[in-house]
Amino acid sequence: MQTTNPADAPAAAPLRNAASAGLPSLTPAGPSVGASPADTASGELPSAAVGVAASGAPPSSSSSVHTDETSSEVPSHLPSSPASDRSARVCQVFRHSFWKTRRAAVYRALSADPDLWRRRDRFAACGATAWVLRDADDPSRVRLATNACHDRFCEACARERRNLVASNIATRVPDEGLRLLTLTLKSSDLPLPAVLDRLHASWARFRQHADIARYLRGGVAFVELTYSDSRRQWHPHLHVLFAGRFLPHAVAKAAWLAVTGDSFIVDVRAVRDAKAAGAYVAKYASKAIPASIILRPDLLPAVLAAFRGRRTFATFGSWARLHLSKPDPDPTTWVPWIELPRLIDRAKAGDPEARSVLLRLVNTPALPPTDLPAALHPPP
Ligand SMILES: [Zn+2]
Repeated sequence: MQTTNPADAPAAAPLRNAASAGLPSLTPAGPSVGASPADTASGELPSAAVGVAASGAPPSSSSSVHTDETSSEVPSHLPSSPASDRSARVCQVFRHSFWKTRRAAVYRALSADPDLWRRRDRFAACGATAWVLRDADDPSRVRLATNACHDRFCEACARERRNLVASNIATRVPDEGLRLLTLTLKSSDLPLPAVLDRLHASWARFRQHADIARYLRGGVAFVELTYSDSRRQWHPHLHVLFAGRFLPHAVAKAAWLAVTGDSFIVDVRAVRDAKAAGAYVAKYASKAIPASIILRPDLLPAVLAAFRGRRTFATFGSWARLHLSKPDPDPTTWVPWIELPRLIDRAKAGDPEARSVLLRLVNTPALPPTDLPAALHPPP
C-alpha cells in the first residue's frame, strides 16, 4: 500500500543508537497504524498523551483525570535517574491513566503482602519504557512497544488481551449458531476460593451433562464476580459464548439445577454473528472483577488471593484449537524509531508529524504483544 509518510522524519538519536546496537528484527503482531492523508494533526491531543510531557511533572491546575501523577502513588521500581524517572512517568501516564485510582488500589494491596512484592514490582514497572516502532518497509506504519507486566489485575494488560481475544473471535469463529449463555450460582456464605471452585466444578459438570453436551461444540467462558454488601456474599456468574445447536432454556435450566443442586438462574440468547460475538467478549472479559470490588480495601486482598493461579476466561471444545489468545503471525519487521516521551515532546512543541502519529497511537485499540525488545530496556 502506498501511503504518505508522516512518520518519515529524520531519525532521532535513540533510533540511531538502537539501530546501531544491532537489534534483532522485531516481529510483534499487534496493531499498527498506517498513514492516511486525512489523518493529519487536526484534532486535539488527548490529555493522556501530553499531560505530563512538558516538564515531566503534571499540571496541577487542570481538572483532567489524566494530569494527576500516576507514579506518585505507584513507584515504578526501576533503576532511577532524573531522566529515567521522567521518562518512566510519561510512559506510565500514557499507558495507565485510564485506571489510575484502581491501579493504586491494586498496588497497595500487593504491597501489603510480602509474598507478593516481586509481583508488585513487576506490576509497578508495567509500561515504564515505551518506544514507537515502525515498519522497515513502510515507515508510515507505526506501533507502540512497551514492557508489560501481564498481571491479571493490570487493566492495561487485560485490555490488550481482551481486545486480542475479541478480534480473534470476530475473525476465527464461524458465524453460524453462536449463542450466549449466562449461568448464575446461588449466593452463599462460602469464602471466595470455595465459591470459585464451586463455579468451575459446576461448569465442568454442566458441559458434560448428558442433556447438554450435544448442544455445545465449542466456546469460551468468562467469570464475572460481584459482591452483595447487604448479604456480605459473593455472586459469581459465568458468561459462555458458544457455537452449537439451539439450546432450549428449559433444558439449560434443568441441567444447571441438576449439577448445582440449588441454582437455576440461566439465560440463553442468540448472537447475530462473529462480529457481535467479539463485542460480547470485549464486554464480559473486562468485567471479571468490577471496579467496585477493586476499590474496596476490605475485599481486594481476598480477591487477589482467591484468583491467584486461576483463569478468568477459558476456551473449551472445538474453540480450544482456535488459539484465541494468540495473535496472527506478523511478517512485518518492526524497527525502533523514537522513545514515546520524545515523540510526546515533539507533539507538544507543535510538530505536525509527531502529533499525527501520537493521535493515531492513542486512537488505535491496544493489542498484545506490546512487549519491549530486551535490547530497549533501560540498563540495570
Ligand atoms: Zn501490566
